[in-house]
Amino acid sequence: MLQSLEALRPKKRLFLGLLLASEFFVALTLYGAWLICCPGLANIFEYLPAIVGALFIFVSTFSFGAVCNMVLAVKGLPTLKLFHRYSFALIKFLFPVAVRIGKIFGIKRRQIEGSFVAVSNLIFMKSGIKVPATRLLVLSPHCLQLSNCPHKITRDPNNCKRCGGCNVGDLMKLSEELGFTFFVATGGTLARQIVKQKRPKAVLAIACERDLMSGIQDVYPLPAVGVLNIRPNGPCNNTRVDMDEVKRVLSQIIE
Ligand code: SF4
Repeated sequence: MLQSLEALRPKKRLFLGLLLASEFFVALTLYGAWLICCPGLANIFEYLPAIVGALFIFVSTFSFGAVCNMVLAVKGLPTLKLFHRYSFALIKFLFPVAVRIGKIFGIKRRQIEGSFVAVSNLIFMKSGIKVPATRLLVLSPHCLQLSNCPHKITRDPNNCKRCGGCNVGDLMKLSEELGFTFFVATGGTLARQIVKQKRPKAVLAIACERDLMSGIQDVYPLPAVGVLNIRPNGPCNNTRVDMDEVKRVLSQIIE
């Protein structure tokens, strides 16, 4: 959820801290593996331990650099473009380790995913990305639609009658006012299809922590900003979205 920068601080620290801890753990594991394998490697070729060691050092240093680059981006400091394209690949690789480390400290997976979204949103905002409304795609999950609504909106959101029963109608009205494209996606596959078909310059996605985390990574290098849905009835059932927050985010990214 995009809140004030001050309110986001603990969340960002959580994700970045766990990522650094995971990085340290993986580097230590590589070092341990290298120590164990050293005698065997030397039997194959006398310089092989040095070559493998150098490779491990390169991988560890590079990934540490990518995490530090994210910290710099969050702080609004200059970053190295070289690391950008590898950041999400690194997150995908380190995330399971981060979840396990978080579990030791009683931190839930959802909190870590939420923290990732906060970091990603902040990087998006600090990068000053602005797009014309016509090149912005707003995606929402199907669970935003009232569960007993008879209208099929997943193929065409224009079928929504704007009855006020759920936020789909509010988003449709807003898309007409501002000119962005609005779609309701039943899952990641359909969301990816819509992105491919509409070719937007940026995406605003409304979803839960898990779907935002995977969605933001899936559409990269397309810039994506996430707004968390509200789940008063539990996950995936008659969810809501804070329309004031959606409007606030839209005002920051539409030219
Ligand atoms: S606002 Fe649209 S999608 Fe929501 S309940 Fe009404 S008609 Fe159905």
